[in-house]
Amino acid sequence: MTDTISTVSLAIAQERKIVTAIPGPNSIALQKRREAVVASGVASALPVFAERAHGAILVDVDGNQFIDLGAGIGVMTIGHTDAAVVAAASQQLRELTHAMFTITPYESYVRVAELLAEHTPGDFAKKSVLLNSGAEAVENGVKIARSYTGRAGVAVLDHAYHGRTNLTMAMTFKAMPYKTSFGPFAPSVFHAPGSYPFRDGLSGADAAARTITYLEKSIGASDLACVVAEPIQGEGGFVVPADGYLAALQEWCTANEVVFIADEIQSGMARTGRYYASEHFGVEPDMVLTAKGIAGGLPIAAVTGRAEIMDAPHKGGLGGTFAGNPVAAAAAIAVFAEIESRGLLAEAARIESILKPAMHALALKYPIIGDVRGIGAMIAIEVVQHGSLDPNPAAVAAVTAFAAQHGVILLSAGTYGNVIRFLPSLAISDDLLREAVGVIDEAFASL
Ligand SMILES: *Cc1c(COP(=O)(O)O)cnc(C)c1O
Repeated sequence: MTDTISTVSLAIAQERKIVTAIPGPNSIALQKRREAVVASGVASALPVFAERAHGAILVDVDGNQFIDLGAGIGVMTIGHTDAAVVAAASQQLRELTHAMFTITPYESYVRVAELLAEHTPGDFAKKSVLLNSGAEAVENGVKIARSYTGRAGVAVLDHAYHGRTNLTMAMTFKAMPYKTSFGPFAPSVFHAPGSYPFRDGLSGADAAARTITYLEKSIGASDLACVVAEPIQGEGGFVVPADGYLAALQEWCTANEVVFIADEIQSGMARTGRYYASEHFGVEPDMVLTAKGIAGGLPIAAVTGRAEIMDAPHKGGLGGTFAGNPVAAAAAIAVFAEIESRGLLAEAARIESILKPAMHALALKYPIIGDVRGIGAMIAIEVVQHGSLDPNPAAVAAVTAFAAQHGVILLSAGTYGNVIRFLPSLAISDDLLREAVGVIDEAFASL
């Protein structure tokens, strides 16, 4: 049974193939059905419906095969329908689908917490709570930090994305489409300036001084429970902070007994060539949030932090019906095993070594590419108006649409919608990456 599933998946050739107009007739028919019954607030980046996927290739309902440089927003880090993940989840599905950890606990939840304690940054005693989604991990991180400090204030950085629930909408920077018309928002959330080298030109020390001045003057350390920061911002446009910025911020948090929380929901789980991007910046957060890439597409998320902080909430204060579901937990255990046995941390560096030079070459050819940045398999280009820093979201929309027509899934990002982010699966081959770069080149040439 398990073998049948993986054999079928493995049958998808790792090649780009466009056999109909995009969208094809089956996608168009599904789109009609969708419009009748799916709330229109749920939008989709591509006009095609997915049918199957394996590795770095996604097949639509018309048989078109796309090189997937989005990986479901960095979820399919180890590749679509990874055979080990499929086998582990299938097996678990037959043995125990749900028990509810807060009624009758089970081993896989404990095992995931052990793996997180081992692989998150820092050599201190750690504990975890498992949840269903990234936003829920952010919410629980804040709950725990408040419980531990007895303070209410939550500071986040400009351009941050933390989710779509009420508290996390308050923590997210961008109004449209995430917040507009959905307020009022949770109180005691403060947006501090961060570090965005391409736009602010500040050194890490100067950007940190600016952030810290804001925290001290506008909030006051004694009212602040936590600072929540993405080591590399995801939706914000893969913004990599200037050298020293995160370390200075953490140092200030430690000195002021403020919990430093790294939202690694997009940047974690091997995406940047380390388990967590924090490691590139020499920081060991008090708390790390994990979701997207942790379970090969199954929904599970985690808050992992210093044991004394994690133990602050009273018994029964944390939980959730589906939180830490056994099938998703089994998949997560398989993902950790795959990262180790296939040496996937090194694959992120391989991807960077192809994508970054290729994007620098395109930036020379097309000067509207103003910045190339990122680490590992988390690389982005920021597109501007010729000769200025003014954002060029129209060019990004045209390039991503062209790429979709030509069999490459490209995702945009950024507060100004002018960033193209590449977050392919670590399973993508050099040849597929180079082929996708060729399509992106053609897309810029067509502008
Ligand atoms: C995706 C994301 C979230 C929210 O995760 P969901 O699972 O969509 O709730 C939070 N923070 C970051 C950095 C993310 O990329």
